[in-house]
Amino acid sequence: MVTPGQAAVEKQAARLRGAPIAPGQTCAQAYGAMEDWVFRLGPWLFFLEPVSGRWLFLDPVHGQYRDTGHGVGQVAFRLEGPAWVAEPLTRSAAKAETPVRMCPACGQIGSSDARFCRSCGRTLPET
Ligand SMILES: [Zn+2]
Repeated sequence: MVTPGQAAVEKQAARLRGAPIAPGQTCAQAYGAMEDWVFRLGPWLFFLEPVSGRWLFLDPVHGQYRDTGHGVGQVAFRLEGPAWVAEPLTRSAAKAETPVRMCPACGQIGSSDARFCRSCGRTLPET
């Protein structure tokens, strides 16, 4: 089950996806405040990077956001003891919410409009 906090952020992402940033518009103007893209799960803070559609989590040791390895609509984050785990949603559900594309070379998941792999830089095939 996706928590209400995560669902609210992903809903916002679905609404804004595909809306291009107008010339001269900053990311903050286009996507709103960063706090709007964050939800809390126990001690953890998760941040949805609105441009890439990737879920990041706040690494409390280093005080910076790190990639969870999952994109929007792919997983449900939940607590397991003190740690968070990402539970994969069904394939069809993930597909319906956000089109994503997997890099054939390294398996990195990127948004469907990405032309190059964020991980290895390979050109992604057209879909
Ligand atoms: Zn790759």
